[in-house]
Amino acid sequence: MRGIAKSMARTFAVFLRKPVTRDYPTYHKPIPERDRAFPLLLWDEDIHEPFCTGCHACERACPVECMTVLMKDNPNHKNLDGTSSRRKIIDKFWIDYARCMRCNICVEVCNFDAIAMNNTWEGHEISVYDRQDLVMDLPQLLSQSRTGNINEWVPVLGQTNETMSETDAEVSN
Ligand code: SF4
Ligand code: SF4
Repeated sequence: MRGIAKSMARTFAVFLRKPVTRDYPTYHKPIPERDRAFPLLLWDEDIHEPFCTGCHACERACPVECMTVLMKDNPNHKNLDGTSSRRKIIDKFWIDYARCMRCNICVEVCNFDAIAMNNTWEGHEISVYDRQDLVMDLPQLLSQSRTGNINEWVPVLGQTNETMSETDAEVSN
């Protein structure tokens, strides 16, 4: 009888305990500020074109060769219509997220702050039935930056390495 009472008390205590699991995907745990999902390209709001010049630096540095970059002459270059200082611009860009290992090397080698690691749930929740659907093209890679749906630390709108360092210092203080 005493044993039954003890087990009932234990059952009741567990019943009242706060759940240790989360109701995913209804509830999204806040992700750390510097979380890394997959790389995405950044959009220059000032002149409405990508920051990416198609220079191939990231493509050459990618250890798993999952990037393909094609550049073209920029039709908005200042010599032509005066709006952009970029002589060359990205024409086509593919990243195979099924092969990407999220190493961040492409971000580190980019001289134009044109690419960043996604730090949102949208960057993680990309389950598909066909691996081919994980090959992202230029519009897909730019879409989150164009709609402003990326978190603040991602270097947007030409933020320089110096201002990034200041931001880092503020965060670490
Ligand atoms: S994060 Fe690494 S593996 Fe992924 S595209 Fe960039 S360089 Fe390649
Ligand atoms: S993302 Fe950066 S490194 Fe890669 S092609 Fe564009 S400008 Fe070059």
